[in-house]
Amino acid sequence: MGKCELSHADMKLENAGDKGLNFGSRADVQTCAYWGAPIIWDGMFNPEVYDRTHKRDHTSVALTVFAVGRYLDVYLKDFLLSAERHFMVGFPVTYYVFTDVPEKIPALKLASGRELKSMPVKRHSRWQDVSMMRMRSISDAIDSHIHHNHPYVFCMDVDQVFAGRFGTEALGESVGLLHAHFYHSFKRLRTYDRNPESQAYMADSEGDFYYHAAVFGGSWQRVKHITDTCYRTIMEDKNNSVEALWHDESHLNKYFWQHKPSKLLSPEYCWDNSIGYRSDIHITRLLWQEKQYKRLRGTGS
Ligand code: UDP
Ligand code: MN
Repeated sequence: MGKCELSHADMKLENAGDKGLNFGSRADVQTCAYWGAPIIWDGMFNPEVYDRTHKRDHTSVALTVFAVGRYLDVYLKDFLLSAERHFMVGFPVTYYVFTDVPEKIPALKLASGRELKSMPVKRHSRWQDVSMMRMRSISDAIDSHIHHNHPYVFCMDVDQVFAGRFGTEALGESVGLLHAHFYHSFKRLRTYDRNPESQAYMADSEGDFYYHAAVFGGSWQRVKHITDTCYRTIMEDKNNSVEALWHDESHLNKYFWQHKPSKLLSPEYCWDNSIGYRSDIHITRLLWQEKQYKRLRGTGS
């Protein structure tokens, strides 16, 4: 991948932290998208500059996570404990835990300024629906809670664990994450939805980056727009009895194709160790946990 050829002035830089980004410090990777959005890799930024800016702005962050059914027992505790060590450390964070078994949420001592809110959801019998219906629940939570309290929102899968700083450098108006398995692959190999019947359909000529739905975020206004749009296209598919190849992820990819994210996170922000060594992955900030589909998903293959 070539380095970004845009000049600094052409880039969509959102705050003082972004202006300090050093786009040339990682000659081995692409550090900005062709529409000017930075792609955040280790070594490009000074964490202190970002943290200082966000302290000044009294930034606080909502982190939504779903732990429905057995996913709660297996993943939630490690997710939360590791988030306390690495996610937006020193900043106010509210974990919005969406679950059908609130009584099983582990009682954890959170750092000062941080809290956990349990959000009741019903358990859909198909895991695909649990995953897709997150869009609706997040949108509702933005209306009922998040918009009063948090300028920024991150939405994450629970089957992962933080391993390194995931800090204020990751905040932006609209944030997508490059999928660890596809950031190097040729466009034709990226697994967009290719069914013209689906609202998530993308033609062969379409698509640039492939985004992983396990992490996305932005301002509450943008996350509201993302989740409302994806929910609407998911429901249109349901009315037409089609389901996109990778469910909510296909819809999210269509969204980001049509509405470019203002910031991209490198796969350092969500790495899968089973890929093995890659010289361009300098740090792993969030790691995939082992998939235990047979045990966890039960019904709905
Ligand atoms: N999820 C859940 N219970 C389920 C299915 C999914 O809580 O029965 C949530 C959970 O947060 C999970 C996310 O939806 O991480 C996406 O599902 P999964 O991680 O299995 O999808 P994959 O990462 O394999 O695409
Ligand atoms: Mn997952």
